[in-house]
Amino acid sequence: MRDEFGRDIRYLRLSVTDRCNCRCVYCMPENGVPMLSHADILSFEEMRDIVAAAASLGVRKVRLTGGEPLVRRGIVDLVGMVAAVPGIDEVDMTTNATLLAPVAASLRDAGLTRLNVSLDTLNAARYKAITRRGTLADALAGLAAAHDAGFANTKINCVLIGGVNDDELRPLAELARDRDLTVRFIELMRMGECAGWPKGRFVSADEVLSAVPELVRVGGQGVSELYQAPGWKGSVGLIRPMTHRFCSSCDRIRVTADGRLKPCLHSAAEVNLRGLSGQDLAEAIRAGIAAKPRGHRMDNGRASDSLRAMNEIGG
Ligand code: SF4
Ligand code: SF4
Repeated sequence: MRDEFGRDIRYLRLSVTDRCNCRCVYCMPENGVPMLSHADILSFEEMRDIVAAAASLGVRKVRLTGGEPLVRRGIVDLVGMVAAVPGIDEVDMTTNATLLAPVAASLRDAGLTRLNVSLDTLNAARYKAITRRGTLADALAGLAAAHDAGFANTKINCVLIGGVNDDELRPLAELARDRDLTVRFIELMRMGECAGWPKGRFVSADEVLSAVPELVRVGGQGVSELYQAPGWKGSVGLIRPMTHRFCSSCDRIRVTADGRLKPCLHSAAEVNLRGLSGQDLAEAIRAGIAAKPRGHRMDNGRASDSLRAMNEIGG
């Protein structure tokens, strides 16, 4: 289905839980945030029905997000249910990978197509400091297990944080030297925990090009500019959410773990999907797509208009 600005909406990001086993500094306060009660979280059947209704309107790709999707009990079953929805061609997941190793093969067997793994540093002490709870060795074990299970073109998502990991741009990029990976560097967004952070924390993705000058632009891939270096097996992506460049081609909608459709990550607009079924559910999704704004308004240091934290929306 096309929205008011002619964008064809084909991609649904579905948050399956607001919980996470980490407390990343740019995402949650140290002591966590108030969590939804189990009764407030969509059941697997409700999620499947939402995906089916979205598919009837033209959605073809679903990404399961969180919080951390792997803390949701029965996640492998949910992957199978979503993958079985007629019209859905691709089911992806964004994860911190710390819980991935034991379930990577089962996820693949259940129909998961691709993984995005959040990894901001290769330094174990720094990883602990950024995630407050996670262990680098677990995340790397998850990545290795994903490779062994047959996941191809895994994407590493690395949030650029000035004064924290901007001295590691080259080693992080070089993860793509010998592996079929895309290492994507993401500029920090002024929202949630980091809405009030000092300017120096916000680093331009251009710093990556200075750190790895042999990178050559080879095109675009969704929201990222894609680069390769001679002889490297994988690629490097730069994601600049603060520019408007990809709002004009944005094909995504989001559904929160408590069943609210968010037409745009940075808008306060939400449409309730809870308690709806059949034609009513499809109509509510249609209304949400129709309400999708042209883009965000985070220019000149203005923070996101979203009323929710990242862990509730799934990034
Ligand atoms: S950024 Fe991801 S891994 Fe970190 S606390 Fe938020 S949801 Fe968890
Ligand atoms: S800000 Fe909104 S419209 Fe722009 S790319 Fe993000 S979700 Fe899409």
